[in-house]
Amino acid sequence: VKRNSSNKMAFYSINIDNNISEKKRLENQLQNALAENQFTLYYQSFIDSRKEKIVGFEALIRWQHPEKGLIPPGVFIPLAEENGLIKEIGDWVLEESCREIKKLNNRFNRNYFISVNVSPEQFISQDFIKKVKSTLQKTGLKAENLELEITERTTVENIDYTVKALNQLQELGVKTSIDDFGTGYSSLNYIKEFAINTLKIDKSFIDEFITDNNNRAIVNTIITLAHSLNLEVVAEGVETINQAEKLKAVDCDLLQGYYYSHPEPIKNIITELEKLNQQ
Ligand code: C2E
Ligand code: CA
Ligand code: CA
Ligand code: CA
Repeated sequence: VKRNSSNKMAFYSINIDNNISEKKRLENQLQNALAENQFTLYYQSFIDSRKEKIVGFEALIRWQHPEKGLIPPGVFIPLAEENGLIKEIGDWVLEESCREIKKLNNRFNRNYFISVNVSPEQFISQDFIKKVKSTLQKTGLKAENLELEITERTTVENIDYTVKALNQLQELGVKTSIDDFGTGYSSLNYIKEFAINTLKIDKSFIDEFITDNNNRAIVNTIITLAHSLNLEVVAEGVETINQAEKLKAVDCDLLQGYYYSHPEPIKNIITELEKLNQQ
């Protein structure tokens, strides 16, 4: 099944690139997807590298399309960013994921955190901070259990605003993380100006971490830099035991990737946690 879904992903992206009317059609359908309840969230765990335990989850959106099946975010998030729908979709993701993780924490008596991807368009919108505040109030999730993942694109395009907004989030007690770190253009200089908690090293560096000396040097440098700035480091896209062991050896704090778990619907997460609890 997993094979299938990745094949599908390739199929849709090719279709969209080559076929303008297909893109228009999808965009029109996207307008109704929220109202029609067609979005769903998958959750991928974060593993504490020292305790070897699940400490949180990242929310990853999918579109359950009535005819096409599950469409991955790489296909429709860029469309939603283009046409402004991303704000509504992002609000939905934030609220739904906070609600689900609060339920999960109640059920298992834990303090799992939820990490939510935030598009630049969403982050810089006027009422974003207010929305975060009201979502925490509405769902009852503790601020410290919410992490927002922004990308370097968000930070470099809006430096002054980003500094301000990150400070406000920090005051709320919400955690923030720079996603896909190392792929964008954010100068290391700015990193120290930002009130953030976590650097998330992009999968592309992790892929060849074992075999490629340059990538190993980059990863080591990011980890050292992060720790000297009191930031946590997450490695994403960890697929092998080899990578996991080596990342632990260089003191990477959190690990995430197919080696540990794929993104799964909440009901699968609950089943897994129940199994773990019985052991
Ligand atoms: P991302 O935030 O960098 O998320 C990581 C992506 O890599 C996810 O793809 C995840 O399923 C995949 N992944 C995780 N571990 C592994 C691994 O070990 N190997 C490989 N090959 N892949 C792995 P996904 O779910 O298709 O999401 C793609 C991108 O879509 C995300 O990249 C993020 O930028 C965006 N996205 C997803 N959900 C949301 C959302 O709710 N809001 C916004 N704004 N963007 C989202
Ligand atoms: Ca992410
Ligand atoms: Ca990422
Ligand atoms: Ca990435």
